[in-house]
Amino acid sequence: MGSQPAQSTRHHVVIVGSGFGGIFAAQKLKHANVDVTLIARTTHHLFQPLLYQVATGILSVGEIAVPNRIILRKQKNTQVLLGDVVDVDVTNQTVSSEASGHTTVTSYDSLIVAAGAEQSYFGNDHFARFAPGMKTIDHALELRGKILTAFERAELSEDPEEQARLLTFVVVGAGPTGVEMAGQIAELARQTLVGAFRNIDPSMARIVLLDGAPIVLPPMGKRLGGKAQRRLEKLGVEVVLNAFVTDIDERGLVVKDKDGNQERVPAYTKIWAAGVSASPLGKILAEQTGTELDRAGRVKVNPDLTIQGHPNVFVVGDMMALDDVPGIAPAAIQSGTYAGRIIKDELSNPGASTSQRKPFKYLDKGSIAVVSKYSAVGRVIGGKVPVTGVVGWFMWLAVHLFYLVGFKNRYSTLLYWLFAFVSNARTQLNVTEQWMMGRHALEEVEERKKEIGT
Ligand SMILES: Cc1cc2nc3c(=O)[nH]c(=O)nc-3n(C[C@H](O)[C@H](O)[C@H](O)COP(=O)(O)OP(=O)(O)OC[C@H]3O[C@@H](n4cnc5c(N)ncnc54)[C@H](O)[C@@H]3O)c2cc1C
Repeated sequence: MGSQPAQSTRHHVVIVGSGFGGIFAAQKLKHANVDVTLIARTTHHLFQPLLYQVATGILSVGEIAVPNRIILRKQKNTQVLLGDVVDVDVTNQTVSSEASGHTTVTSYDSLIVAAGAEQSYFGNDHFARFAPGMKTIDHALELRGKILTAFERAELSEDPEEQARLLTFVVVGAGPTGVEMAGQIAELARQTLVGAFRNIDPSMARIVLLDGAPIVLPPMGKRLGGKAQRRLEKLGVEVVLNAFVTDIDERGLVVKDKDGNQERVPAYTKIWAAGVSASPLGKILAEQTGTELDRAGRVKVNPDLTIQGHPNVFVVGDMMALDDVPGIAPAAIQSGTYAGRIIKDELSNPGASTSQRKPFKYLDKGSIAVVSKYSAVGRVIGGKVPVTGVVGWFMWLAVHLFYLVGFKNRYSTLLYWLFAFVSNARTQLNVTEQWMMGRHALEEVEERKKEIGT
């Protein structure tokens, strides 16, 4: 075990997580009189909203993930540590993290916890083996492998039933991620891959989008959800609503409708886009401080985003529960920036009292989901103004490019998009066996390690 001393006697801020919340908090502290340590379990900051484009061959990993060290290299007061934070001790003000079998204990004066959310299978964790979620680069590459291998295997098969199973793609969850995935698989099958196979017609692929809710994109309302549904159906996506997945295995899944009828859907590719729950670090914080968690495991924070009785411990982004602030990127950016600013301002004004903090105010900029090329639905300007179709799509493009600002590769992203959207071609259609099998192999190694006690 090692310990990570503060680099000087200056106030030490530890940030957990390199998502939107963590990176924006760190950047806000650039010119503050502090030392910052950012601890993250991945080496990169990931632009999650574009993961589905990596999964469906439009973008490469480098377009949506940038190494934390590169983002923060000019920020001299900041150190980046690779580590999975496994414990937080709010009494002794330390954070314990593990990487490559090495445990590091880092002490803090202020702590910003921005560990985000994880895929939730609503208590059916075994579904994960057969239906990967969409939270990490590994997920996106595994799904790309799965989707494209489905076509390859169908080309090799001579059994029409097996071909149909291989060419059935089921996306569970009709929120923005599910809608975007279903739309992109449909475009891949019916546009990009047309003419590329000899024994199968990729455009015959069956793409099913399932949800327990009665409408697509529930937070956007019935009208916009209806528009998205009609657009998806035009692309040949089967939208099945009021339907619940009761089981998933290697060869397919079982779906129950609202009348309780069960149907088995044979499908090679199953994608889970149905739910998230906050990082388990929330539970650790709650147990130590008596703070409550909401149903999604998010930490109920004070108006200044701190935990009750701990004005130096901030919880931001997808991990925090505060009023109706949603779990989306702008909320994480704004809350991370807020926490960084509070720390910076109070240190430059030693007379300031934590009780005088101005509460966090979320500025709702709305949200947009892409349904297909040149078609998106959403709400902008405080969520009040609906946008649809090509106008919505161009707004989505502009917003995503804006949030990629700071990444040098935003220009290459634009080029990839031009290429994909103008010509229907995709440059990232390569897959390897390892991308598909890596997660299972690692899980087996971990199980084996447990069995033999190492
Ligand atoms: C597929 C997908 C599509 C999305 N689309 C949109 C969209 O179109 N628009 C939108 O506004 N939002 C979208 N979102 C939501 C948005 O990405 C999140 O709200 C945002 O990323 C939250 O930021 P965060 O910093 O709280 O968490 P995250 O961005 O999830 O970052 C969490 C960080 O913490 C790290 N971490 C986690 N646990 C630990 C630990 N124990 N130790 C160390 N590090 C840890 C992670 O590796 C990661 O770096 C989407 C999300 C997904 C998954």
